[in-house]
Amino acid sequence: MASMPENWTLPGVTDLNREWFESGALRVQTCADCAALQHPPEEICHRCGAMRFTSTELAPTGSIYSFTVVHYPVNKLLADSVPYAVVLVALDDHPDIRVLGNLFDIEMDDIRVGMPVHALWQERSDEFGTVHLPQWTPT
Ligand SMILES: [Zn+2]
Repeated sequence: MASMPENWTLPGVTDLNREWFESGALRVQTCADCAALQHPPEEICHRCGAMRFTSTELAPTGSIYSFTVVHYPVNKLLADSVPYAVVLVALDDHPDIRVLGNLFDIEMDDIRVGMPVHALWQERSDEFGTVHLPQWTPT
């Protein structure tokens, strides 16, 4: 199983998601008014409607909430990457916060819902800057 291709398009970094993609940590958007955590970052707090935020760093551990194994390369750049696993991870610190990523270092048939995992960060750069993408590996 391979990682995403080196020339794969990186996420666009904005003021809203900058901490998520540049911190190299699981820094989750936190409402400055009601302290609710939410992910992915958005313009407005889902609990109270406020629009001011700070962030909270959560432990880089969780368990697989759901997953899929991709066998067909929908883009020719992915031809050398299949099969690969896409996992939705419920974080140990805050299970309502779920983070999407790839799962590495495991045979595809061994992936199970509930499996403990921890984050690792892939550093990628393009003409717009450098991002640190959270990915996952079994604990
Ligand atoms: Zn709020």
